[in-house]
Amino acid sequence: MRKPKPTIRAIVYPEEKLKFISKKLANPKLSEYRKKEYIRRFVGEHCAICHEVPTKIVQYDMRGISLVEKYCDKCIEKIKIAF
Ligand SMILES: [Zn+2]
Repeated sequence: MRKPKPTIRAIVYPEEKLKFISKKLANPKLSEYRKKEYIRRFVGEHCAICHEVPTKIVQYDMRGISLVEKYCDKCIEKIKIAF
């Protein structure tokens, strides 16, 4: 079944939180695993495609059921082509 056209909303993070997480992600001493742990702890979920910090919420409404997916800036552009 084709997904209906979704609504896209931006995820707004508090500035402090964003600063903290970008610092952690820029740290070359931290392993990928630890970085993912930080993302999970601070933003809840990561991007559905690349596992980075999500910035957009994509919501599909299918006959009363809503499906929510989260994507980062890079991946939202990729999936937008499919709309
Ligand atoms: Zn992504």
